[in-house]
Amino acid sequence: MYDSNYLANHLRAASVGRDDALYAEMLDGTTLSYGEMFDAAEKNASALLIAGLKPGDCVAAQVEKSIETIQLYLGTILAGGIYLPLNIAYTPLELEYFLKDAKPQIFVCDPTKLSILQSLANNTGVATVLTLSADGIGTLTDALPANNNNFKAVARDENDLAAFLYTSGTTGRSKGAMLSHANLASNAQSLKDCWRFSERDVLIHALPIFHTHGLFVATNTTLCAGSSMIFMPRFNSDLILSLMKKATVLMGVPTFYVRLLESTNLSRDTVANMRLFISGSAPLLAETHKQWQALTGTAILERYGMTETNMNTSNPYDGERRAGTVGMPLPGIEVRITDQDTGKELAQGEIGSIEVRGPNVFKGYWQMPEKTKEEFREDGFFITGDVGVMDNNNYLSIVGRSKDLIISGGFNVYPKEVELILDDVEGVYESAVIGVPHPDFGEGVLAVVVLETGKNLNESLLKAILKEKIADYKQPKNIYFVDELPRNTMGKVLKNDLRNEHSANFIN
Ligand code: AMP
Repeated sequence: MYDSNYLANHLRAASVGRDDALYAEMLDGTTLSYGEMFDAAEKNASALLIAGLKPGDCVAAQVEKSIETIQLYLGTILAGGIYLPLNIAYTPLELEYFLKDAKPQIFVCDPTKLSILQSLANNTGVATVLTLSADGIGTLTDALPANNNNFKAVARDENDLAAFLYTSGTTGRSKGAMLSHANLASNAQSLKDCWRFSERDVLIHALPIFHTHGLFVATNTTLCAGSSMIFMPRFNSDLILSLMKKATVLMGVPTFYVRLLESTNLSRDTVANMRLFISGSAPLLAETHKQWQALTGTAILERYGMTETNMNTSNPYDGERRAGTVGMPLPGIEVRITDQDTGKELAQGEIGSIEVRGPNVFKGYWQMPEKTKEEFREDGFFITGDVGVMDNNNYLSIVGRSKDLIISGGFNVYPKEVELILDDVEGVYESAVIGVPHPDFGEGVLAVVVLETGKNLNESLLKAILKEKIADYKQPKNIYFVDELPRNTMGKVLKNDLRNEHSANFIN
């Protein structure tokens, strides 16, 4: 056991005495037991300590998804470090920002990028650069000690930092969220309980591991329950469908479910062995939820969280998983809806700013005390930046990001309200509603619509439908048709890109 290291202790507890139990199976059939997994994690920790890591130092990693990367993450925790995963898609220019900002002691990168990134690391003051490939090869692997029998986890308590996770930055510069050992441990424990994870579970892990969803929700929850996972380098619809017969849980972003629904192989039989489908990181269309239920007989469980808070709410395991909602607050987590300007709590059913307080909420933004102060209320609630509404059964629905809120002629327009009406129109697949500069109203409403294949709708028809249903000021002045909406890797619609692209075409 790792008694002195708070998070490692939590992640190991369920597998103590079960060293032979399966932890991960790779697509080539290779397997890794819990004993082998933690042995490798300890060797990573030793290699990092030998490379000069001190308690509280940061280890940044921009590496492909591999089981060795999970070992590096756990090794960093065991060595008393702070793990910073970086999106593999970041360019050297983007990386420069993260390395300068987080000031990691050690940077692990893909061997093929070493020649470019070594000089970047030198220029940004990183002491040591190590490499790790998708196949688990590199100088980090070379540095793992052969014999590590006397390893002792570095002591860290619940308030020490375990990770820096940069916000996805869809609305501005990425900020480093400081997550403590207790933030991560409490959320993993809570999700394990709420979603009934056990030693019998087999998770299909197809998410990226530079994000809270794939790294913490998927990996920590599995470890915490002593479950196993089938570890896929990336999403692959056919493969996932074929793996369902030996798995029990899938965690995905909404796009996973949309893609799986496109397959003719999805049926009640295909999912017969699966006990749970979880969705998050972006809104799951109610339509997708319904189609999935009709075809498979199972209701997708949607949950809501973010980089800064881990998971906040979840639809119930037992009880109704309500399409279009993100469920109720997780145990021990308080969620309230407030007036955006005054911070006053609103009555149930009123739309407002979503605020969260609990053991899951991060410690602040790295080296941004002012920004941190702005985002917290004095009583400790974090202002998520999401706008939502809670019904009388405590189901939360997200209406949009506060930054996406459109103020047209002094009136608030919640994009989701307009999107829901558009999405409901026969022939519309999905839509995104944005605000663009307007000379009279400040902002004008504009809609970007994706039609179902083979459907032919035009702007005036959609405008006529909207006219029947919502007030004038909420109605899009222009409606554009596109083949698909721009999304980031986690499936979030990039509204900034849409604003940039379409504001120039706006006709008022
Ligand atoms: P990230 O920090 O990248 O995990 O993004 C967090 C943001 O994703 C949240 O603040 C929400 O705006 C959005 N999000 C996460 N889960 C959901 C969900 N189930 N439905 C709608 N939006 C979501």
